[in-house]
Amino acid sequence: MDEATRSIEVTKRARIAGDYDVVVCGGGAAGFISAIAAARSGAKTAIVEQYGFFGGMATIGLVTPLSVFTYNREQVIGGIPWEFVERLRKMGGCIVEEPLGNVAFDPELYKLLCQQMMLEAGVEMYMHSYLSGCRVENGRISAVFFENKNGTEAICGDMYVDCTGDGDLAAMAGVPMQTDEYPPMQPMSTYFILGGVDTDSPMIADAMHHNKQGRNCHCIPVREKLLAMKESLGIPEFGGPWFCTTLRPGEVAVNMTRTMGNAIDNRDFTAAECRLREDVFKVARILRENFEEFRNSYVTTVAVHAGIRESRRIKGVHTITGDEYVNACRYPDSISRGAHPVDVHIGAGAEQSLTFLKQAAYVPYRALIAEGFPNLLVAGRCISADKTAFASLRVQASCMGTGQAAGVAAARCAKAGVSVQDADTDGLIRELRNLGAII
Ligand SMILES: Cc1cc2nc3c(=O)[nH]c(=O)nc-3n(C[C@H](O)[C@H](O)[C@H](O)COP(=O)(O)OP(=O)(O)OC[C@H]3O[C@@H](n4cnc5c(N)ncnc54)[C@H](O)[C@@H]3O)c2cc1C
Repeated sequence: MDEATRSIEVTKRARIAGDYDVVVCGGGAAGFISAIAAARSGAKTAIVEQYGFFGGMATIGLVTPLSVFTYNREQVIGGIPWEFVERLRKMGGCIVEEPLGNVAFDPELYKLLCQQMMLEAGVEMYMHSYLSGCRVENGRISAVFFENKNGTEAICGDMYVDCTGDGDLAAMAGVPMQTDEYPPMQPMSTYFILGGVDTDSPMIADAMHHNKQGRNCHCIPVREKLLAMKESLGIPEFGGPWFCTTLRPGEVAVNMTRTMGNAIDNRDFTAAECRLREDVFKVARILRENFEEFRNSYVTTVAVHAGIRESRRIKGVHTITGDEYVNACRYPDSISRGAHPVDVHIGAGAEQSLTFLKQAAYVPYRALIAEGFPNLLVAGRCISADKTAFASLRVQASCMGTGQAAGVAAARCAKAGVSVQDADTDGLIRELRNLGAII
């Protein structure tokens, strides 16, 4: 038997830890908002998250800007996501960059507020719990399994919302994925935070406040000098660079490293994490040695998880096409919006292609569900969209918007005892509008 076909059968019993109306898997931008939305809509709700805090890419990946809640200063994402921003602002944990509408934040306060809002809503949390499987009968998920220090545990729900970013639960349940789930995907990047930066210098202050709609928001002087020296200094692949504020003086969150890889293949992802960590320290040294503003800088934090821009997306009842998206096609079941440009990062080289929208776009409910899976919704970056629509919808405010819709929809379906395909979408839209969603 060759290496690839060697296997061992593993049989386990999982203790059932709880029964819920709604089970949300993954606690990132889409997940924690989805769980709050479901719980506030009256559902007994649980959330399963592999780390000991919530926020997803915002906190595990240090992706410090939330993009974007507004289109040309007009708010397009509202309700619980915006309440989160307002509360974070009151804590001194974020600033809204005008006119772009990006929200820059302190990742530690972000983590704190995520858990506070979920606990207030009555969400039961399973942290440090890695989703490892599910039981499916006739397309209906009856339990999810996860591994933690208690061993293998299970929880049962009426409805499930997959917010793992990578569509892990949907894949485990057997939902068909978009054919373009395979390479080329957008590259991965590991964010890091530098301390000791001259954040008062005009170059850094200007770059940290991404207020130049119509441009790529990267730091042009640093980019041009690095591109000119790339060969001679052996600078690894990089994008941008984009410098973001953590709201702390002297600190800059840096989005610069870049590598290709498949985030849903463990060996490929392991190799990518290692390359990116090496590159963090290489580019930090290059910044220190070549720019006065970084002369006294040092790495304070490297993201605990490489930033994944793209992996699986479900093949939903409806797939949002780039054409529909950029033409702001409005659907009878629109449940959220998107306002970020179509933002494609190229794997090899330092390029990024940005196409600005002429109007804020719409997301139909049918992109959150798959044919034949009556109690599963997805939200966040794994929804059903082609590569073009996805390249805008992948940003965090948009993921929060679909998370909110999926959470409310899951709670309503659980209460009504109907499948996600038979959801009353008019009623859903009314309830979302009452929450403050802008549809
Ligand atoms: C380098 C980079 C730069 C970016 N720049 C921006 C930007 O400027 N502005 C912006 O708004 N967006 C940006 N994004 C995009 C954005 O961060 C993500 O697309 C967004 O966070 C996706 O949200 P999500 O909720 O779908 O998934 P995530 O935020 O990835 O959350 C998924 C959650 O599920 C958990 N999880 C996953 N699998 C499991 C499992 N098996 N078991 C248990 N838990 C699990 C994870 O730990 C995580 O908490 C960027 C992304 C990258 C990588």
